[in-house]
Amino acid sequence: MANDQLGYDDTPYLPHVDYRVHDPERPQPPVVDPGEPVTNDPPEDATVLLGESGAAGWTHTDGRELEWRIDDGVFEVEPGSGDVRTEAAFGDCQLHLEWATPEEREGSSQGIGNSGVFLMDLYEIQVLDNYENPTYADGYAGAVYGQHPPLVNACRPSGEWQSYDIVWNAPRFDDDELAEPATVTVLHNGVVIQHATEVLGTTGHRTLPEYEPHPSEGHLRLQDHGDRVRFRNVWYREL
Ligand code: MG
Repeated sequence: MANDQLGYDDTPYLPHVDYRVHDPERPQPPVVDPGEPVTNDPPEDATVLLGESGAAGWTHTDGRELEWRIDDGVFEVEPGSGDVRTEAAFGDCQLHLEWATPEEREGSSQGIGNSGVFLMDLYEIQVLDNYENPTYADGYAGAVYGQHPPLVNACRPSGEWQSYDIVWNAPRFDDDELAEPATVTVLHNGVVIQHATEVLGTTGHRTLPEYEPHPSEGHLRLQDHGDRVRFRNVWYREL
């Protein structure tokens, strides 16, 4: 059951800590003011996924033409239209993206400025407006959703542009067996919030993560969670 909207007390226990999935008792990440905004243009060897030239190569996950709005390099979730993903597929990478949650907000917890960055279409780094908005720790902005809270809460105020810089090591499979789990490092507004974190499996809601074998490259997916979250300046470098 939801506990004051800050989590669940009927979910399974995670394998690596004494907390349940979305446990309301798990400590809240401490707040850190990230300082002035960090942005950077794509390096010379980057592949641009979203920039001034638009959102070519993005479709809804079922192949439908985009319903999300693209304007001057800014991509905005169209609530109810569904997730979108890149045509490009890649594995190990350095990924940069910038996002902003709506300035006007209502609701609480997971209900404010929710979206997500799904690496390889399967592993979510949470996007959420956690500026003075607590939620369950493993659902914070920058969480490996349902698994690992961010080390700190480096959110900027609602409506301001924020950045993620992600270093992703894809999982390795040996036939049908997991040979090596994925690891991920995330900087939120220039602050390290995941440090070579071992990913426990694909992202679910209220369920234990598990790995399912998949190809070594996958699409980048952005989540429609019903909020008009915006994205810009998305690029990656293969590693
Ligand atoms: Mg999300």
